[in-house]
Amino acid sequence: MIQIKTDAEIAVMRRAGLVVARTLETLRAAVAPGVSTADLDAVAREALASEGATPSFLGYHGFPAVICSSVNEEIVHGIPSRAKVLRDGDVVSIDFGAIIEGYHGDAAITVPVGQVPAELLELLRVCEESLWHGFAAARLGGRLSDISHAVESYVRAQPHPLGGSWGIVEEYVGHGIGTEMHQDPQVYNFAPKGPGRGPKLVRGLVLAVEPMVNLGTKATRVLDDQWTVVTADSAASAHFEHTFTLTEDGPWVLTALDGGAARLAPLLAATG
Ligand code: MG
Repeated sequence: MIQIKTDAEIAVMRRAGLVVARTLETLRAAVAPGVSTADLDAVAREALASEGATPSFLGYHGFPAVICSSVNEEIVHGIPSRAKVLRDGDVVSIDFGAIIEGYHGDAAITVPVGQVPAELLELLRVCEESLWHGFAAARLGGRLSDISHAVESYVRAQPHPLGGSWGIVEEYVGHGIGTEMHQDPQVYNFAPKGPGRGPKLVRGLVLAVEPMVNLGTKATRVLDDQWTVVTADSAASAHFEHTFTLTEDGPWVLTALDGGAARLAPLLAATG
């Protein structure tokens, strides 16, 4: 069932979203060679405490940390560890959720560590930009697959830096979000039947959109820890996520400090 939020509930979700946005900026600044993913988890725990928020991920189906940290070929759901130390040339995806007054915010970024090869920077750019193209395609009265289609077609249109093709992960998808982190509907990052399908995009619908793009195959597997999802060919992966809703003025990205205005303006101007 899709949970439709009132304006007052969305105002609370904005507060949760801002906690997530600020914490991810703090985490981005903390990423450096020699830092462990457990160090990043500790940074996020401190941020949650100082914000007076509670974690979405800790204890979720037994997950042992407040962030997911996924390095290089790890796509999502990596478990922070003292033993996982970031090295120059890595990319690390950090997924983080926070709860304010029972409402969740959820977002993810992928961050380069030190000097990173050009093809990895391009992977990050393509994945992040596909997310914003998804938001820019969302309209009140439109349909859910408008977003999925925009994400997929943006990725497909980008030349691959190594002459291969991008892998858009299919097994893990975005979701509705509110009083639970994961709610209906599922938000796919691909649309085999094109735009114009699925639930109507209405006021009060709040979604987390989260493309995962691989430098190689889209195929995935889960490590023996039963959490960490990796690419089947060990090529690198990127993951970007934001929580957003639609207003009469357009998309409002609840987990972006500026609501998404700066990133959306050129895209919305281009599409009219
Ligand atoms: Mg999510």
